[in-house]
Amino acid sequence: MNPRAQVSSVFHLDKCIGCHTCSIACKNLWTDRKGAEYMWWNNVETKPGTGYPTQWEDQQQYQGGWEKNGTQLQLKMGGRGGLLGKIFHNPRLPTMDDYYEPFTYAYGDLTNAPAGDDQPTARPVSMVTGKPMNIEAGPNWDDDLSGSNIYAANDPGVVRLRAEEQAQMFAIEKMVMFYLPRICNHCLNAGCVAGCPSGAIYKRGEDGIVLINQEQCRGWRMCVSACPYKKTYYGWSTGKSEKCILCFPRQEAGEAPACFHSCVGRIRYLGVLLYDADRIESAALREDGDLAAAQRELILDPWDSQVLAAARKAGVPEQVLTAARRSPVYKFVKEWGIALPLHPEFRTLPMLFYVPPLLPLLAQDNQGVQKQAEEFFTTLEQARLPIEYLAGLFAGGNAEEVKAVYRKLMAVRIQRRHASVGDLADADVARARDLAQLSKETIDAIYRMTALTRIQERIVVPPMLRDQAVEAGMDPEVYKQEMGFGRRQPPKRRW
Ligand code: SF4
Ligand code: SF4
Repeated sequence: MNPRAQVSSVFHLDKCIGCHTCSIACKNLWTDRKGAEYMWWNNVETKPGTGYPTQWEDQQQYQGGWEKNGTQLQLKMGGRGGLLGKIFHNPRLPTMDDYYEPFTYAYGDLTNAPAGDDQPTARPVSMVTGKPMNIEAGPNWDDDLSGSNIYAANDPGVVRLRAEEQAQMFAIEKMVMFYLPRICNHCLNAGCVAGCPSGAIYKRGEDGIVLINQEQCRGWRMCVSACPYKKTYYGWSTGKSEKCILCFPRQEAGEAPACFHSCVGRIRYLGVLLYDADRIESAALREDGDLAAAQRELILDPWDSQVLAAARKAGVPEQVLTAARRSPVYKFVKEWGIALPLHPEFRTLPMLFYVPPLLPLLAQDNQGVQKQAEEFFTTLEQARLPIEYLAGLFAGGNAEEVKAVYRKLMAVRIQRRHASVGDLADADVARARDLAQLSKETIDAIYRMTALTRIQERIVVPPMLRDQAVEAGMDPEVYKQEMGFGRRQPPKRRW
């Protein structure tokens, strides 16, 4: 056992209202500058939809993430030969059209136009060429456009569905959407780290945050290709790649990352997970449908004495172990099992987990009013959003994995309805709990964490002991000259 600590997150999708405050908080802080205009380290997509950059989930096109090659993992974009072949021309990179051409408006025209009979207007201007342009795309261009033929119909997750399931989603009275906020997942088996020919990307040993050393980056953009979530971006002004840094300077000061802090829906939870680094490769090699479970198995119990002893031996500070025991992420992912990774089949072991949205399922019949446990659970089979679609997003296609989560979420709703409205029979509520395999107390705890907690419980930033972390790994004098190392071993590259 080789325990490491990872700062991880949970986004509760039923609570996201699609306000984009998180995106703006991030943009104002980190990407409000030349060359970074098109970058949205945090973006919020409407699902079903094609997302940003468009169709990022289609790895036939972009070839991001990993694939199994016998008993080995290999980057989908190819080994060393494939990488060298693409170094000067990489057809798998998203183009500016796949993101969007960033624009502003000629605001000065509003105040500087000469007096006349007509109303002055501020025309859109390209932030790349400085010339007037027609706006044809944006980072959330399909916001709320559920059911559109251009966006929802071309969602790679929808394209994979059977014809009757697609027809079901596009029947006008069944149209449905939910929001999917995305940031870098700070993966355990990060494709971006393995794909970088310059060794510029590294995972911080003490907290697992994935960063790009701006001194070492040579702008090859292989990280953009290798990241299946398209969460590294090329800065055209600096010639270096950039990505979400999980606001580590804020976290080092004990503050929540900006997108977490500003989240209006309070959907975001942050905390430390302990995981077994020795099992990363074997977990990433499991079959698609087993990957979500394999990732859960990697997560270690922060109360287990053997885990604690091994973690102390591996140099995880005592304060971080204490924070791991308070982690809301541990509760959602491991204890309650209601948060799943996004596209685990990309095999990067993403450490941002999602509680899938329940409302689109329940809202189909009787405006979401079901009176008996059985009625709740049959809605799973007739969901407006096919379970296969959600399984494709959160469980490598394993519908049973997603159904198990939904049974739990429904049991929470049934018990709360019983407590607050009182129109359900005791026996029905008990049956719902049995089907979900949850106790009354656990349901109360899930409800509390979902609906009532304050920021101190939702976001448990561990003490970031940079000085200790550096000293444990190498001489601070050497560290001053070099940045970016794994504390115990260098990153293993697989090409
Ligand atoms: S989401 Fe992409 S950029 Fe972030 S760690 Fe994973 S592979 Fe790297
Ligand atoms: S701020 Fe929160 S609620 Fe608003 S879009 Fe972002 S994640 Fe959703």
